Formats: sequence, C-alpha cells, structure tokens
Amino acid sequence: MKSHAKVVIIGGGVVGCSVLFHLARHGWTDVVLLERDELTSGSTWHAAGGMHTINGDPNVAKLQKYTINLYKEIEELSGQATGVHLTGGVLLAATEARLDWLRGVVAKGRYLGIELEEISPNEAAELMPLLDPKQFVGAVRNKEDGHLDPSGVTHAYAKAARKLGAEVERFTKVEDIVRRPDGLWRVITNKGEVVAEHVVNAGGLWAREVGRMVGLELPVLAMEHMYLITEDMPEVAAWNAKTGTEIIHAVDFDGELYLRQERGGMLMGTYEKANKPWSEYQTPWNFGHELLEPDIDRIAPSLEVGFRHFPAFQNTGIKQIINGPFTFAPDGNPLVGPVRGLPGFWVACGVMAGFSQGGGVGLALSNWMIEGDPGADIWAMDVARYGDWATMAYTNAKVRENYSRRFSIRFPNEELPAGRPLKTTPVYDLLSAKGAQWGVAYGLEVPLWYAPEGVKDEFSWRRSSDFTQVAKEVATVRDGVGLSEISSFAKYKVTGERAAAWLDRMLACKLPKPGRMTLAPMLKQDGRLIGDFTLANLGEDGWFLAGSGIAEQYHMRWFEKHLPDDGSVRIEALGAKLTGLSIAGPKARDVLAKATRSDVSNAAFSFMAIGRMDIGMAPCLVGRVSYTGDLGYEIWVAPEYQRAAYQALMAAGEEFGIGLFGSRALNALRLDKNYGSWGREYRPIYGPLEAGLDRFVAYGKDADFIGKAAALAERRQGGKLRLRAFIVDADDADVIGDEPIWFDGAVRGWVTSGGYAHHSKKSVAVGYVPKEIADESDGFEIELLGKRHAARIQAVPLFDANFERMRA
Ligand SMILES: Cc1cc2nc3c(=O)[nH]c(=O)nc-3n(C[C@H](O)[C@H](O)[C@H](O)COP(=O)(O)OP(=O)(O)OC[C@H]3O[C@@H](n4cnc5c(N)ncnc54)[C@H](O)[C@@H]3O)c2cc1C
Repeated sequence: MKSHAKVVIIGGGVVGCSVLFHLARHGWTDVVLLERDELTSGSTWHAAGGMHTINGDPNVAKLQKYTINLYKEIEELSGQATGVHLTGGVLLAATEARLDWLRGVVAKGRYLGIELEEISPNEAAELMPLLDPKQFVGAVRNKEDGHLDPSGVTHAYAKAARKLGAEVERFTKVEDIVRRPDGLWRVITNKGEVVAEHVVNAGGLWAREVGRMVGLELPVLAMEHMYLITEDMPEVAAWNAKTGTEIIHAVDFDGELYLRQERGGMLMGTYEKANKPWSEYQTPWNFGHELLEPDIDRIAPSLEVGFRHFPAFQNTGIKQIINGPFTFAPDGNPLVGPVRGLPGFWVACGVMAGFSQGGGVGLALSNWMIEGDPGADIWAMDVARYGDWATMAYTNAKVRENYSRRFSIRFPNEELPAGRPLKTTPVYDLLSAKGAQWGVAYGLEVPLWYAPEGVKDEFSWRRSSDFTQVAKEVATVRDGVGLSEISSFAKYKVTGERAAAWLDRMLACKLPKPGRMTLAPMLKQDGRLIGDFTLANLGEDGWFLAGSGIAEQYHMRWFEKHLPDDGSVRIEALGAKLTGLSIAGPKARDVLAKATRSDVSNAAFSFMAIGRMDIGMAPCLVGRVSYTGDLGYEIWVAPEYQRAAYQALMAAGEEFGIGLFGSRALNALRLDKNYGSWGREYRPIYGPLEAGLDRFVAYGKDADFIGKAAALAERRQGGKLRLRAFIVDADDADVIGDEPIWFDGAVRGWVTSGGYAHHSKKSVAVGYVPKEIADESDGFEIELLGKRHAARIQAVPLFDANFERMRA
C-alpha cells in the first residue's frame, strides 16, 4: 500500500467506487480506495439493483439520468459487464391525488429531457401484464427505468478507475483519521498509514463511524429493507415467450411497492409503514456479507395490497425474502460535499439509491474536489443542508418518517410532523395561542399562517383551507400593519480590522456607509450566485448580514474557506442568539414610533437605514426594509428580549389594528413585487444578470470581488436565461415550483416559485426562460396539474412599482 496519496477514499461500495472512477477520469489518479473487506461488502451486494430517473428534486433527477447513461461507458472502459436491463417501467396511480402528482412528474420531465408519458390503466396493463387495471386510475410510462447487477456495476467502476491509474486496497480497514498540523490527513489502517491531502468518507453503512473518527456526527441511519422473490410464474413465462421481452418495472405508489422480473419469477419490494431501524447507535464492524432475519408480518399489509393489485401473485409461492440494511439521511437524499471546519474532508454517504444516484454523486464530488465547484446545482444533496440540530434522535425520527412515506404523496401545503418541534423561539407559545400553524426551516419552527378556531390545513394540490385566511393576513399588511416572526433568517456578525476589505472581496455590492444597508449578491469564481444577503454597516460595531436561514451552514463553509489566517476578520453565525420580528404596512411607522423613543421619521430613519433602538424595554437592532415590499421594519433582538419586544409592538399596534401574518402571506406579498429568494430564484446555476440581481452588482468598484471577471463576461455576452414573473390564467390551483413554461407550443423554461398574490388578486409564477423570448408579450403557457394555462410576463411589480409606499 502506498504511504502518500492525493486522495484516500474510504469504502468500496458503489458510491466509493464511483468517486474513485470520476476522480481518475478527471485526471486525479494519485487516489487510493481503502475497503475493509471485499468490494460491495456494505449495503451494495444485496441491493435489488433497480434504477430510475425520477426524483422529487429536478437537479437530482438530472444526475440520476447521468448515472443511468454512464453504465454503457464504464462497461466499455472496464470490460466488466454491468448487467443493465433497460426494461422501461410504469408508475401507477390508484387515486386522483396520486395522478395529479404523477402529472407534475411528467411535466418536470419535459424540461429535464426525461421522456414520460401519461397512459390509461388499460394501456399500463398492456405493458405490464400482471397488473389489474381496475385497481388504478392512471399511469405514467418511463422508458429510462430498469435494473442491473449491483456487483457488476461496482466492479466496473473500480476496474475502469484502475485502468486510469487509481488504486484499490481491499481488506484494509481504516481505524482512525488524524489531521496533522500541516493540514494533511493521516489515514490509519490495520495495514499501516496513508497520508493524504483529501479524505472521502464513502463508508455507507459505517459512514457514521468513519465520521466519528474526525469528530463528526453525520445525520444518517440504516433501515432494514425487505424484498421478496417469487417462484417461477407461468404468467411471466407466457409474456416472455409472447413478446420476447422481460416484464417491465412497476412502481405502485399507493401500494408502496416496486416490482420487476427476477429470472422466471418476480421481485417485489416495499417500504413498509411499520419500519425498523438497524444499528441505531453503532454499526458493528464485524457485519459482513450477512442478511437480516425477514419479518413477513411487517410487510404483510403492503403485500396484501400488492396481491390485490397484481393478482398473479396470489397463485405463486415466495422463494426468498431478502432483508438488508441501507442508510438514509433525514430527507432521503444523499449527503455530499466538503465538511465545514474540516478542510480536505469530504463525504459521499447516505446514498439510498446508489444505482440511480451513485454516478451523479461521483461526478459532483470529483468536480468539487478538482475544480472547487460541483458543476451542477446539488443543493438537495449537499451535506451543508443540515446543521448541528440534526442530532441522532432527530435523524432517527425523520428517517423513519421518510422511509414510511417513501412512496407517499407530500402535498405542497403538507408539513411533516416527525422530529418537531425541535428549535423554537421565545414567542412560540404566544403565536401558537393566536392559531399559528407551524412549518419548519433548518430545524426551526416558523409560523406559516394563523388559523381560526377549528380550521387547519387540508392537504391538496389546489387552493385550500388557508386561502381565505392568508388573504386576510395580506390585507392586514397592505391596509394597515402586520407583524411576523422572522427568526428563521440566518444572521451573521463580521468584525475585525480587515472586515470591510474582506466583505468588499466576498460580496459583489458596494459596501454601505455606517447606519445603512444594501442588498448584497455573493458570487462564485464562475460569476454565478452563491448567496444573496442584506448587508448592514453598524459602524464601530462591525457588519451585520442577514440571509437565507436554510443556507447558514452552506454559507459559513464558504465564508470560512475565504477567511484570512491572521485573525484580522472574524465571522460568527448568530443562529438562535438573535431572533427577529418584522412589522410592515402603511401604519408600520406609526406603530414603531409609538413603541420607541427613537426618531423613526422618514427624515431621520429613511429606507435602508439601520440602527439600535429600544422597543418598549427591549434593546433591538432595527433596519428599515421589508420583504413585503411595503413600508416596514426588520427588528433583531436577543432571545431573552423577544417576548418583551413582541408585546410592546402588539400593544402599540392595537390602535392601528395590528394583526399577525405568516410566511404564506409573506410569499403572497413578495409576489406583488417580483422579489426572489435564495434556494428558489437564486441558486448557484444562475448569474446575477440572469437572476435580475445585476443592478446590485458594483461592477465598477475597485475591489476585485470574487467572480467579477466572469460576471463582467456574462454581462457582455448577455447570459442565457432571464428570470421573469408571469401572471397565470389559473383557476383553482397555483404553481408551487418546477412546473414547465411553454412558449409557442414547446417547453422553454421552468418555474422556480409562485402562488396567489392575494393583494393583486393574481396567480403569479416566477421562473427562468431563454433570454431570446424573455421580452415576448404573448405565447407563454404554464403547465399546472397536467393542463396548460395562458400566462403573460409581468415586467413591472403589481404593487408599488414606483416605491412610493416603501420609501415614504
Ligand atoms: C434490500 C436492499 C435493496 C436495495 N435495492 C436498491 C435498488 O433497487 N436500487 C438502488 O439504487 N439501491 C438499492 N438499495 C440501496 C443500495 O444498496 C445503496 O444505495 C448502496 O449500496 C449504497 O452504497 P454505498 O457505497 O454508499 O455504501 P455501502 O455499500 O455500504 O459501502 C460502504 C463500504 O465502505 C466500507 N467501509 C466502511 N467503513 C470502512 C472503513 N473504516 N475502512 C474501510 N472500508 C470501510 C464497507 O465495507 C463497505 O463496503 C438497496 C438496499 C437494500 C438493503
């Protein structure tokens, strides 16, 4: 075994081998993969080998498509058969709600280049002869569906990587990992030590234990998973003989089942409700090529549905039940990327669909390691989407929930209950008492809307029980004054003698003067967005940044990567140390003026001013800005004072008719103004020109901010896309995001977010289209629940286009 390597990959499952292959293909061949046993010795060897392109996140779906297309290439490169059978498949709906969901999947496929087609139950039965069409209301055909040989694929990656110069050491167990003072990593094994610049944790079933070697508690948990294989079935033999083809794959969402042909019989797997975690605290190191005891009672309810939906199963015997463990992150998507605070330590774990996702994970991680950027929008898989709050018990609750809902519908207004409430702010009970219906962002409870007694969310793809109430909350703001909780923003404090110069390099905006704020896009080297913040200059007190709450870890990783070593700049994520309230509406100033002794007149405290003031008895930092697009204030307050500030504002607001509003009303309000947000409109695949943030980029400033050259080039060339707001002729449903935008009969763009703008009484969609058509007045349509609705670009904001309210 070599003593030094550029990269050590820990784990020879399908994921580790894919990372090895991709690094070698991109030119990093001084790479060694260490496997404690034979390759495939974790969850890989007993997988059912199914693969498909469908994923709830379109960016992950793209990487799944990449993975499936890669198999031919690695087979050719390695000379190792992968056993790929691209049979195609049917996705089955037994309810109308499921069919609505499937129509959304078909629609997304249109701009992802995934060919999906809605078919009737009878057409589905012609393709998949075992199903009873009477049990279903509709189906979708997917041609890019199939299965493969898990061991063949893993060895094909490894052999192809070896041919390119990478190495594999089997029976080499990593026992410890130590960071040297010079930043290199000592990877200590049972056969000696390798010193490496980079370490990749692809430990699969042992990813948690490998993480613990460097003090990291990864939010992953293994679950037991069962599938059965039947005896040979005459129906299968008859179909094979008649058509010369295999029986195609089927996913029966309402039965929570997946099926495919396995030799002369069938394989049926299920994600059962009564699921069971495996090795909750510690994966045993002596677990090898073993299977777990099957428990047929646990999967019996799903099998019952299966036998009804696929009657031929009633006449056949079960040859074998496989029960094996594999790992999940709380939301079921992989954990990939560099780990904050551990330079050179990378993870590629929690991959629950290794044969659909392994290639994409390897591609993204190798790009990231070599180029400094994953080269795709992989937010849904980024390890930074979790923070310390994703504890072991939280992960346990969430993974179990996710497993049991693997094939369940999640409606756009549906909040999942497991692992909650976890983080709450001091006003939580006060807002609950007013009817707050809670959602969650980055582990923190956030009020979505306020329900009258006896009313709650009815889950639906269409406008639902909150519609009238959200309309009232919107009217409270636009007609008077509303208060909302905004603690879920990420807040950062930047100090140190070189803080200003550092911010000038990190952020693309011009730095504001003391007591002022500005909108601050942050770019990557390639000129694309990596953040958007409100930046405030607090004078002697340093700088304050407010940004997307879900991206706190993501942004801290970026900030810390760029901090000078000499301690001249310090940045702290304030998290729960600072809570927030916001008041907005034409009477917001009256309320603030009554609650404070500071001068908040327009002359003394104009739009984008920021300053310290007491609200009631509570010391606060108040900025005059509001995402509602109205006259408004964001109020930052230490948690021990949040209740006092809230009570002071509510008391002062009483005479002005103050009311509470939640994030759903805020969404409706920002749609009046065409405002975008991080994670929806602003993501790392868009440039500032494309995203409409160009006007906040100070191209002319002296500082050579990160991404300046690339952003200037984009500006000269004009980029490819434009973000646009559309008014949709919708009836009873509004967009939620990821719907296709049609132009002249072809899909040309996609929706990033939207909803109903109650004040303007318009259904609004925001999304990207090619710049060539971005100023067309006619010809757009937006697809909603399988139906195309006419849409028109709304270039000027629907509300306060001349900023009279906001700046008054
Ligand atoms: C019953 C069942 C059916 C499944 N069906 C499918 C399916 O149809 N389609 C699909 O895509 N996925 C399926 N999966 C999931 C699939 O198996 C996983 O997504 C995949 O195996 C994950 O691969 P991995 O490389 O991340 O982890 P693993 O396969 O667990 O590999 C990790 C490797 O790391 C090694 N390792 C760990 N720690 C160390 C150390 N300290 N030193 C050295 N080596 C170490 C282990 O020995 C192991 O070989 C199924 C899983 C099960 C259990």
